Amino acid sequence: MSRINTVLGPVESSELGFTLSHEHISNGFGGSPFTFPEFLDINATLDRAVSDLSEAKSEGLQTIMDVAPHDQGRNVKLQREVSEKSGVNIITCTGTWLDVPSFFEGLNPNKIADMYVREIEKGIEETNIKAGIIKVASDKGGVKPREELVLRAAARASKQTGIPIMTHTWALDRVGEEQVNIFMEEDLDMNLVCIGHSNDTTDLSYLTGLLEKGVWLGMDRYPGGGPDIPYWKERSRVVKSLIDHGWGNRIMLAHDWDSSIGLHSAQARESRDKYNPDNYLFITRHVLPYLKEIGATDNDIDQLTVINPRKYLEGIH
Ligand SMILES: [Zn+2]
Repeated sequence: MSRINTVLGPVESSELGFTLSHEHISNGFGGSPFTFPEFLDINATLDRAVSDLSEAKSEGLQTIMDVAPHDQGRNVKLQREVSEKSGVNIITCTGTWLDVPSFFEGLNPNKIADMYVREIEKGIEETNIKAGIIKVASDKGGVKPREELVLRAAARASKQTGIPIMTHTWALDRVGEEQVNIFMEEDLDMNLVCIGHSNDTTDLSYLTGLLEKGVWLGMDRYPGGGPDIPYWKERSRVVKSLIDHGWGNRIMLAHDWDSSIGLHSAQARESRDKYNPDNYLFITRHVLPYLKEIGATDNDIDQLTVINPRKYLEGIH
C-alpha cells in the first residue's frame, strides 16, 4: 500500500486505476501563467480540459500524470480545478523540461535537488499541492550540459524521496541511453526511472537494451506519425512485440496530449485536433482494440494501463 501525491492530495496507489503516464492539461513557458496570463485563455482551457477529461472518465480513464514542470508553464491551480470538476486524478510534477534556466549553471545539483524535494514534500508555489513525479528532458543531439545538471538533480531528489522520474527524450538519437548512463552514475535505482517518448522509434534493440537496464518505458506519444516517425498502428505493433518478448510488465501508454487554448494555438489547435480528434481517448478507442486484434490479452492491457503505472508510481515505498 502506498500513497501517491495528486493535486487533490494523497491517493492510495490501488485507487489510481486506468492511468495515462504522460499528458498535460496546459502547456506554456516558465512563469507564463503568472507573468503573461494572456498567453493562455484560462477559462477556455479549463472548459475544454474538464469536458474532454469528463468524457474520458466516462470511458474508463481515472488518472493522468501531468508532466509539465515550471519551465513548461505548469499551472497547479488549473490542474486542481480540472481534477475537481472532471473527477480524474492528476499527478503533477517537479523537475525541469528543456528550458533549463541559465542561472542553474554552476549550481551544485544538490541545490537544485533541494528545490525539487521541497515541491515534493512541502508544496508547489503558494499551494500545498505536492509533486508525485519528477520530470527532466533531453532532446535531439543528446544531453546538453544544463540538461545533465537537472538529470543529476532529479536523480538525487528521487533517491531522497522515492518519487520516480519521467524523462522526455528523442528516441531516434537514442537519447534514453545517455540519460540512463547519467542516472547509473548517480547510483539511482533504475526502477525509479521511466524513459519517455520511447515510441518515436521502432528499434527494438534500442528499447530492449534500455529495459535490460531496469527502467520503465513510456510509449507515450500517440497517435504519432510524421517524417521518419511511426504512426499509431506501427507503434502498437512495437508494444505487442515488447509484450511478446516478456516486457509487458515494464511499459506504459499515453498521448502527450494537452488542452491549451491561447495565443499560440488558434491554427496549431486546429491541426492538433485534426491529428487526434479523440484527445485523451485515442488509446482507449483505437490502440487498445487494435492491440487485442493483434493478440494482446485483457491481462496485457490491464498491465499496461493499470498495474504498471501503479507500480512505477509506488517507486521504492
Ligand atoms: Zn509532454
